Amino acid sequence: MSDHDLSSGNSDVAQNLRDIQDNINAACKAADRDPDAVTLVCVSKNHEADHVRTALVEGRRVFGENRVQEAAGKWPGLRDEFPDVELHLIGPLQTNKVKDAARLFDVIETVDRPKLARALAKHRDATGSCPDLFIQINTGEEPQKAGIAPGDADEFIAMCRDELNLPITGLMCIPPVDEEPAPHFLLLGKIADRRGIAIRSMGMSGDYEAAIRFGATHVRVGTAIFGSRGY
Ligand SMILES: *Cc1c(COP(=O)(O)O)cnc(C)c1O
Repeated sequence: MSDHDLSSGNSDVAQNLRDIQDNINAACKAADRDPDAVTLVCVSKNHEADHVRTALVEGRRVFGENRVQEAAGKWPGLRDEFPDVELHLIGPLQTNKVKDAARLFDVIETVDRPKLARALAKHRDATGSCPDLFIQINTGEEPQKAGIAPGDADEFIAMCRDELNLPITGLMCIPPVDEEPAPHFLLLGKIADRRGIAIRSMGMSGDYEAAIRFGATHVRVGTAIFGSRGY
């Protein structure tokens, strides 16, 4: 344990993680699902390395960041201490940052357009390696939000898999903030089912238990673990 674990605030992280795991276990039990089939992605964006380290010390290994630049500053050092970390990119990715993202992240959850898919394939061809990729579905068809429209999802998934041979292992969605999330979780599950995609990344601090009820395999939780993001 480092000295930082005793600083104010960090002790809450350990308790928050225990509470959330209890909630995950209860939601799985209620849905007759195995808790091991649900991965908690600890969303550490806008929190400093010392704060994040508490979750690592608690044994957490799967983390989410929404910006390449921020992850590049924070994670190489933490990875030195905890080499078995699995880092997910959960924010939009510009094609000119594909190289950096592929180096930093184990999973990119936000593949959302043909241009980005092609850039990832090109990088894979050049380097021989590629992170696991999830496709982000804009289930609410919100114009300001990233993600492929549900009506275009099947064609885009087919292109990524069949034409570009990309490792598409999951789907991800962020339901509109002002709507009941259940229909969005259902829609994501339907697309995943018909494309034979096992991983479903859905549910955040406010709705991860509901997401588990609808088949989430990955829940992305930030505020409920680390507190509010003051920035
Ligand atoms: C920030 C963020 C989260 C975590 O949200 P909280 O409400 O803080 O749990 C999950 N997913 C994505 C894509 C995010 O950007």
